[in-house]
Amino acid sequence: MNLLENKVCIVTGGGRGIGKATAEKFVNEGATVIIGDFDETTGTASADELGEQCSFIKTDVSNSDSVKSLINSVKADNGRIDVIVNNAGILQDQTLEKMEEDQFDRVIQVNMRGVYLCTKYAAELMREQGSGVILNASSVVARFGNFGQTNYVAAKAGLEGMTKVWARELGKHGIRVNAVAPGFIQTDMTAQMPEKIISMMGDKVPLKRWGQPEDVANLYCFLASDEASYISGAILPIDGGVVV
Ligand code: NAP
Repeated sequence: MNLLENKVCIVTGGGRGIGKATAEKFVNEGATVIIGDFDETTGTASADELGEQCSFIKTDVSNSDSVKSLINSVKADNGRIDVIVNNAGILQDQTLEKMEEDQFDRVIQVNMRGVYLCTKYAAELMREQGSGVILNASSVVARFGNFGQTNYVAAKAGLEGMTKVWARELGKHGIRVNAVAPGFIQTDMTAQMPEKIISMMGDKVPLKRWGQPEDVANLYCFLASDEASYISGAILPIDGGVVV
């Protein structure tokens, strides 16, 4: 039996990286997957690659109308939403003195407000269903901070707080809410880092390798499945032991 048989799952930012690997894993486990991504080219390409169980809806998670349209389309086409993976995220790193106000605002809008909007509108339907799973993409830096990431760390720490609030508020409706906190995962996002830092980071990890998008996808899949039916309000690290 597949872990996500017949479940209807939204993966935001599923056009590439961890989101794409998650969409693929979910499809392989029997789910119907809707990718909600900003980028039409990668979003469509990923959905085409993953076959008829996967579709794409152009979405900007930071825009309320766009998120409502995503949720309404999924409801109209499928009648329900079993899982939403709030994976879409961006980086705009800069030290405090150089970080412009619009860089701060944009990262908060996508990485934190986007999670609030997607959860708010998906949870309306989940409450009616009396079931649902909400999964949020945090990061190890939410707990430990990181040089040059005032905006990103603020958003991820905020998201962890919201995860705990929603686990309390939505539990009585049969809705589980959890976050994952990846360490260094090899994607386009981390490819922006200087080569020296990339090799130094790999050495720092007790498991002596960078994580792969599939490592995180496997965790999302477990948390989305009924195997995790008593897990809520958790922030699960997936970092090769780097924060030990
Ligand atoms: P990625 O490769 O940069 O992919 C992010 C995806 O999100 C892209 O498809 C991007 O679309 C999409 N996106 C960006 N803004 C959006 C918006 N406003 N609305 C909808 N989609 C949007 O990133 P990743 O490395 O896979 O990371 C995925 C998540 O894991 C992020 O939340 C990230 O913060 C978190 N995370 C990653 C790591 C890591 O080491 N990689 C570690 C900890 C946490 P475009 O193609 O248009 O940009």
